[in-house]
Amino acid sequence: EAKGAGRNQLCFFDPALQAETVERALLVRDLRQAVDNDEFKLFYQPIVDTHREVKGVEALLRWFHPKHGMVPPDRFIPLAEQTGLILPIGQWVLETACAQLAAWQQDMQRKEWTIAVNVSGRQLNQTSFVGLLRRVLQKTGAPANRLRLELTESVLQDNVESTIAKMNELCELGVRFSLDDFGTGYSSLSYLKRLPLEQLKVDKSFIDDIFEDSCDAAIARTIVALAQSLEIGVVAEGVETPEQMKWLVENGCQLFQGFLFSRPVAPEELAASPIKLSS
Ligand code: C2E
Ligand code: MG
Ligand code: MG
Ligand code: MG
Repeated sequence: EAKGAGRNQLCFFDPALQAETVERALLVRDLRQAVDNDEFKLFYQPIVDTHREVKGVEALLRWFHPKHGMVPPDRFIPLAEQTGLILPIGQWVLETACAQLAAWQQDMQRKEWTIAVNVSGRQLNQTSFVGLLRRVLQKTGAPANRLRLELTESVLQDNVESTIAKMNELCELGVRFSLDDFGTGYSSLSYLKRLPLEQLKVDKSFIDDIFEDSCDAAIARTIVALAQSLEIGVVAEGVETPEQMKWLVENGCQLFQGFLFSRPVAPEELAASPIKLSS
């Protein structure tokens, strides 16, 4: 039965699908060389408080492909995860972000900033992840208490107990955790309170439609209230207008990230705080 279906699928030639498959294979081939060829760069997007003062940044990976130019993370991160290349790439991201944190220790305007790094499930689940991070912190001299690891709810789906244990081990190094894209996954509220989290990040998709969709507004408001009752922080992602910021402030949110303040930029372009509104 299944075999028959497989045979039928092989006979069915879809040129668009084949082009996509070839393109993916070529991208994966290039992705294998990208760390060694120095094609990655970390961009940083400010996270600001109610006074638009920068409190920290999120590190966002950029791949400058020699032929295709900048490839967006949504295009290559899933490929890196599927192929395991996320392990060496993720290590490069951690090393680069920690080196930046160490360098900012000499910079009066930036020494208090935190850097949030996105960590995928595959990275966190490597048995050597705690040791790896310990070595990176030692090698770079970065202050661990300024490093934030952003996890998504999907990471917490299986092996909850071992994930919690590992997060606690990492907390002992001094690092802290944010739960990214919150509201889009399937977090169980019962173990949310057992996770050592410093903050939740409200997903951009809810912020986008707070004025058009009363459900999204209710969800955004509920996530802020949930963080408050868990006594942890909350960051609104994807804030693009002053009206959205005003609404979020009125609903108790204290930290914001979005194009309203700054796009992700190269570290040398990061503005010192506070960020004035251009409009
Ligand atoms: P994320 O961690 O949720 O990062 C936030 C994304 O929202 C970034 O997209 C950022 O540029 C975008 N964004 C922020 N504010 C606004 C806004 O006001 N408007 C709009 N339209 N977009 C906004 P980016 O840089 O394309 O990254 C996409 C995703 O790729 C990230 O989502 C994260 O899941 C993943 N990613 C990026 N860098 C890394 C990395 O170093 N490691 C891993 N594992 N994943 C990464
Ligand atoms: Mg993130
Ligand atoms: Mg996010
Ligand atoms: Mg996202």
